[in-house]
Amino acid sequence: MNRFQPTNLRSLGTQFEIPIKPDEDGYLGRECPIKECLGYFKITPGTGVKGPAPCHCPYCGNSGESRTFFTQEQIEYARSIVLRKVTDAIHKDLKSLEFEHKPQGMFGIGISMKVQASARLPIRYYREKELETAIVCDSCTLRYAIYGVFGWCPDCGVHNSLQILAKNLELARKELTLAASAEAELANHLIGDALENAVSAFDGFGRELCARKSADIRFQSVLGARRKVQDTFGFDFADGLRPDEWECACRVFQKRHLLAHKMGVIDEDYLQKANDPDAVLGRRIRLTEGEVQSAITIVESMGRRLFAGILPPTP
Ligand SMILES: [Zn+2]
Ligand SMILES: [Zn+2]
Repeated sequence: MNRFQPTNLRSLGTQFEIPIKPDEDGYLGRECPIKECLGYFKITPGTGVKGPAPCHCPYCGNSGESRTFFTQEQIEYARSIVLRKVTDAIHKDLKSLEFEHKPQGMFGIGISMKVQASARLPIRYYREKELETAIVCDSCTLRYAIYGVFGWCPDCGVHNSLQILAKNLELARKELTLAASAEAELANHLIGDALENAVSAFDGFGRELCARKSADIRFQSVLGARRKVQDTFGFDFADGLRPDEWECACRVFQKRHLLAHKMGVIDEDYLQKANDPDAVLGRRIRLTEGEVQSAITIVESMGRRLFAGILPPTP
């Protein structure tokens, strides 16, 4: 009998390269390796930073080598492929040992060894998951998808909050464009809605930024927010505004408050805070398209200042 040589097993070598392919939309699943996070997200390879770059977790901001971000399912899949290759090779090697001695003469005993194909281990196929927000990064053009809305870009590491704010303000501007060609009642509704959306976008944006630095600040009252940001972070997000722009911001934010909570009817609080010479107690406020247009521009500039003050780009 020949000496046993595990040639098939040896020829596999000691390193395996298992390709992990993107899904039908071009996304590759990724998972943060930090135990407290394990956040799942997807990227489209090749759309962002060119050349090898570290990967950033959009949720916790951890960054590390790209190869440390494989998902558990991808690892299980690769492992099952390797196991399959190894067991197949072992099976072939054992097969080469098969022999069969036929019985000889009247009382001969036949001996044989047959290697039975045992049940093969299954390949652990997987599907990438559906996520909630798809984003194309403004800074590096990476196409990625995450749960929730806000996060760091997995390729360049820039936080997307300013981009999300800009997108929401753009939608508010579109509402104003629609209002311009609508009949009066609908136009008023659209103008009020555009303001509500701009303020909500600013509030969501500002809170997200502050939360990154473990601060809890609301931005629906722009006056209170300005003071709290100064106290907490030591800068003034309205320092780039002219006095009349700041006044406009305060007045319009107060109008939003009345619209949201008082059906737009002027109360004492408004008279004190809004600095509005046209205001009469008990009457409804007037809100013009031009006013909301300016408010959106002011919100955009305060947003940029807030972002630069709280999450400056790391050098
Ligand atoms: Zn993470
Ligand atoms: Zn990016």
